[in-house]
Amino acid sequence: MEKITCKKCKKTINENDFYQNLKVCPKCGFHDIMNARERILSTADMGSFVEFAENITSVDFLNFYDLKSYNERLSEAKQKSGLNEAIITGEATIKGIRTSICVMDFNFMGGSMGSVVGEKIKIAVENSISKKIPLIIFTASGGARMQEGIISLMQMAKTVSCINRLKENNIPYFCVITHPTTGGVSASFATIADIIITEPGALFCFAGPRVVEQTIKKEIPQDFGLAQRNLKNGQVDIIAQRKEINEVLALLLSLFTGQIPKEENKI
Ligand SMILES: [Zn+2]
Repeated sequence: MEKITCKKCKKTINENDFYQNLKVCPKCGFHDIMNARERILSTADMGSFVEFAENITSVDFLNFYDLKSYNERLSEAKQKSGLNEAIITGEATIKGIRTSICVMDFNFMGGSMGSVVGEKIKIAVENSISKKIPLIIFTASGGARMQEGIISLMQMAKTVSCINRLKENNIPYFCVITHPTTGGVSASFATIADIIITEPGALFCFAGPRVVEQTIKKEIPQDFGLAQRNLKNGQVDIIAQRKEINEVLALLLSLFTGQIPKEENKI
């Protein structure tokens, strides 16, 4: 049996146990990063997910070049993640209750938000409004995508106005913050959900701890931006272990829609 080393406690664990435990270390409870497809599998009822707009891809409209061209970075990210963009958007059921669902993927250019991420969130919002079903977004992002300049920053305004339209239509929106969620995503749609859930140990802040420390030239608390501190400060509503997230979402969907959750076959 294949063995792997936990990134946190450094203990050796069986690979099978690790994956069966949804990429959580069975010894210390460390929640490793999940990709978007794994997250859909562990959250949605089996076979219920229908993806929207999967072929929309970003365009290098600024001819942006840092160490590499943006086009080159996009091709590499597609290869690494197996996705066309840093977010998957679609519709699924969770314990039989229909919902729009978006999942960001940190493996695609650090989950950065460019024009396509904004557009795919808009598509999910429109789906929720037209069908009167809730919206769930799983975040994982380093912030706005610098290769798209001002257009990436405008996605903050775009996504927030989309969420406001949900609110006007009395459609519930739940956000699950996963590690790490920072920058423009934390400063826009991630923080304005009706209920904000997070996983233990997840970093959720605007600027990361090191940047803050360098800026204010003071030591900051060890738990800066981490789930427990965010809960204490009212920045998040619920901390849920990864294996509980499906139950928590089903409960919220049920409470907010009045539908009764059904037990579905899960993997
Ligand atoms: Zn561990």
